[in-house]
Amino acid sequence: MDTLVKYSYDELEKYVESLGEKKFRAKQLFSWIYSKSVSDFDMMSDVKKDFREKLKNCAIILDTKIKKKQVSSDGTIKYLIEFCDGNCAETVLMRFDNRSNLSACVSSQVGCYMGCDFCATAKRGFIRNLEPYEILSQILTIQQDTGLKITNVVFMGQGEPLNNYDNVYKAIEKINEYLSIGIRRITLSTCGIAPKIRQLCEMELVPTLAISLHCADSNIRKQIMPVENKYNLEELKKSLKYYCEKTGKRVTLEYVLIGSLTDTKEMAQKLCEYIKDLKCNINLIPYNPIGDNKYKKPNKKDIMIFKYLLESQGKKVTIRLERGADIDAACGQLAGKV
Ligand code: SAH
Repeated sequence: MDTLVKYSYDELEKYVESLGEKKFRAKQLFSWIYSKSVSDFDMMSDVKKDFREKLKNCAIILDTKIKKKQVSSDGTIKYLIEFCDGNCAETVLMRFDNRSNLSACVSSQVGCYMGCDFCATAKRGFIRNLEPYEILSQILTIQQDTGLKITNVVFMGQGEPLNNYDNVYKAIEKINEYLSIGIRRITLSTCGIAPKIRQLCEMELVPTLAISLHCADSNIRKQIMPVENKYNLEELKKSLKYYCEKTGKRVTLEYVLIGSLTDTKEMAQKLCEYIKDLKCNINLIPYNPIGDNKYKKPNKKDIMIFKYLLESQGKKVTIRLERGADIDAACGQLAGKV
C-alpha cells in the first residue's frame, strides 16, 4: 500500500498520473487530505467513484493508527499513535477555554537521548527519529478524529527536535504550507543545543523558540540536565541573543519549578541575573511527578514568590496551566505507555 501523506504535491501528481488519472485529481486529493482531513476515500465526494475504488486497492492516507485515546476532564486529549513499525509516541490536543486556539503538541522522536533527570521520556531512552510525514500524520490524526482544525503546533512531545533537525525542519515546512499554519504559530522547544539554534536562525522559516532552561545555576543544571555539560548556560545565552537579533522575536524560557531545588529565592535571583539582558518571556512549569519520588512538586506559595521576583525585573511571566495531568499528558509525562 502507498501512504499518500508521504508525498509532496508534485509527487502526488505523478502518483495520480501513474494510476492513469489526470493531474488535477491530485489537487482534489490534496484538499481532502489536508484541508478537510478526511480519513476515508469514500468521503471524497467530488472524486469519481472508480478512482476512489482504485485508490482503496493501492493506497492509504496515513499509515499510523490510534493505539489509545484518553480524554482529560479539562478537555485535553492524549493520543498514543502507533507508527508503521509498531513504535508509539504521544500527540496531545490542548484546548484552552478562553481562547479559540487549538494546539497540537507533537513528538519528534520516539524516546529521547538527552537524559533530563526529571523527564519521563528520558527514562525510556532513545528509540528512533520520526520522519517528516510521521510528524505531520500526528496533526492529521487529531484533525481526522475530532473534525477540528489545529491552529498551533508545539514541538513539545517526545524527543529533542533539534536532534532530528532535518526531519523536523521538513515537517515545519509541510505544516506551514499544507496545513496553512503560520510560522509564528509553530513553536519548537529545545533543551538548548546551541549550535543547532544558530543553524535554525539561518533558515527561511524560523519557528517561535522555547528553551527548556529550568535552572540558571550551572552546577545544579548539570545535575538535572546533562546537556549543560556540552552547551552551558553561557553558550546557550549567546545563541539565544543571536536568535533575538536575527528574528526580532523574543524567546520563551521554560522553567520547571522543582520543590526546594529550582524554586527557591536564590534560584529566582540567579534567573533574574541570567535574563536581564535577554529579550524573553518566562513560562513557569510546576514539576509534574513521574513516579520515581526523586523530585517534589513546588508549593503554591513558592510558585507565587518566584513569579513575583521575576516580574519585578519587568519580565512577562506565565504559569503553565497543567493540562491533562489526570491522563499523564502533562509536560514530561509522555513515555509511550500502552
Ligand atoms: N526536548 C524538548 C521538547 C520537550 S518539551 C525540550 O526539552 O524542550 C517538554 C517540556 O516539558 C520541556 O520543557 C521539559 O523540560 C518539560 N518537562 C519534562 N519533564 C517534566 C516534568 N516532570 N514536569 C514538568 N515539566 C517537565
